[in-house]
Amino acid sequence: MFTEGSVALVTGGSRGIGRAVALDLASHGVHVVVNYSRSEQPAKELVAQIEADGGSASTAGADVTDEAAVRAMFQGVRSEHGRLDVLVTSAGVTRDRFMVVMGSKDFRETMDVNMTGTFLACREALRIMQHQRRGAIVTLSSSSGLDGGFPGQTNYVASKGAIIAFTKALSNEAAPHGVRANCVAPGFIATDMTKSIPAKIRAEYESRIRLGRMGTPEEVAQLVTFLASDRASYITSETFVANGGGLA
Ligand code: NAP
Repeated sequence: MFTEGSVALVTGGSRGIGRAVALDLASHGVHVVVNYSRSEQPAKELVAQIEADGGSASTAGADVTDEAAVRAMFQGVRSEHGRLDVLVTSAGVTRDRFMVVMGSKDFRETMDVNMTGTFLACREALRIMQHQRRGAIVTLSSSSGLDGGFPGQTNYVASKGAIIAFTKALSNEAAPHGVRANCVAPGFIATDMTKSIPAKIRAEYESRIRLGRMGTPEEVAQLVTFLASDRASYITSETFVANGGGLA
């Protein structure tokens, strides 16, 4: 699925969907650079787990909103490995508030981590991938970026819709250089992000999902790995939804 010696960087690889992606890529022989911002210890434990399973991984700390830190992280990958085959951008936050009481800080912070962070990582990755004339980028949006999501998520939904449009525009620029870019839009996935939703509301939404349950990070990771792999060599510029059929 991946050429020998492939290297991937996963932003937000320390927890949740990014963590599952890191594990899945590593199980296919890819060296995974696990990016974290605050979760250094979970990132280190993940690397230890990958190595115990016979894989190869390393950590790279950087807040994805910090331009200099993101640049330094990719420079580190370039000097250590001399290549970057895959970028997965999973770093993301929610700051849910009904719009009438949402502060501009909640709006800006969400846009900054989710959208600007995706831009900064993709830009650095593309600089390397363009030069090597190969590479695959997978961005994490959300099905809410397509259907408007739940009440109280105007900031999050705006950032996730922007990621879909951004990935399309990026793929147009990247294609002539042999680089693919696709987007994955998960529905309701069992991670820390959805744990923060009040239990009653979570149960109500869960009961409406057509497949009758929340998705697992591993189910999203398998799709991400496929899109990042050579098996998806003729697929670019697309958005793939993994949401258990959506809400009935
Ligand atoms: P999560 O469990 O809350 O994990 C969020 C991840 O983002 C953590 O690894 C965190 O790393 C990282 N992160 C946050 N701010 C960061 C920053 N400034 N710089 C670098 N890393 C940062 O979330 P998740 O559910 O796995 O979500 C992963 C992605 O999938 C997000 O983009 C999310 O929007 C998207 N998504 C999730 C769902 C869902 O239902 N869970 C549905 C649709 C889309 P640190 O802890 O190290 O800061």
